[in-house]
Amino acid sequence: MLGVEPASHLPDRVHILGVPIDRLSMDQTLARIEAFIASGTPHIVVTADAAGIAQAQHDPALMEIYRAAELVTPDSIGVVWAARRAGHPIETRVSGVDILDNLCRLSAERGYRIFFLGAEPGVADLAAEKMRLRHPGCNIVGTRHGYFPAESDEVVAHEVALFTPDILIVAMGIPRQEKFIRATEHIIQAKVGIGVGGSLDVFSGKAKRAPAIVQKAKMEWLWRTASNPKKIAKAQMLPRFVMLVLRSRRK
Ligand code: UDP
Repeated sequence: MLGVEPASHLPDRVHILGVPIDRLSMDQTLARIEAFIASGTPHIVVTADAAGIAQAQHDPALMEIYRAAELVTPDSIGVVWAARRAGHPIETRVSGVDILDNLCRLSAERGYRIFFLGAEPGVADLAAEKMRLRHPGCNIVGTRHGYFPAESDEVVAHEVALFTPDILIVAMGIPRQEKFIRATEHIIQAKVGIGVGGSLDVFSGKAKRAPAIVQKAKMEWLWRTASNPKKIAKAQMLPRFVMLVLRSRRK
């Protein structure tokens, strides 16, 4: 798309604990993703939340992926807070769930080929059905569950490549999804690979989003943690993130 520069040339990034975050609105984010699709070569989009950034501090491979990603969106309110503290405020979260919803809308308008990879067996299919109802014409060309060992990454990648997706949605949790996208982009050749965590659970109806009032109060993370015990381990990363940010120098 005209007027959209490569991410590396954008001055408008803020670094949170070494992770570059793009300070873009949802519309600007979507414009960049459409530019990636038009370019015809693979790009990685990361949706970074506080837990992921905390994890990257002791996972050099994940940090390297974050730093090399063409687009990194502020997926959580913790990231928005840290950016404000660094003196580079971000207006709002740009979450994986909302990006996915918008990409399905754009797919219905423009025909982008989307593949859903991840979540438990049956969930990606159900999420695809729901999306086709929500955005009639949405071009989800294939789905696959996300429970396979890393040794099978290449085999799965060759299966996915047969569907020639423009957009590869990977919902396998951080850091598995980012590592899968990076390791297989040369095989799958999707123009955009994006990790979206539990978003397929949300759209399938398996996991409910917090009620609007909870989202407005910016307490969705607490609601989702309380309603899913598996999230408690992840929530334990939050105090660590806050402590690291408070200790870091204000820029
Ligand atoms: N998942 C998967 N393969 C795995 C482990 C997890 O596909 O080997 C899925 C899981 O079913 C869930 C998603 O990955 O749909 C992780 O969601 P979560 O919200 O925990 O992601 P994160 O918080 O890491 O973004």
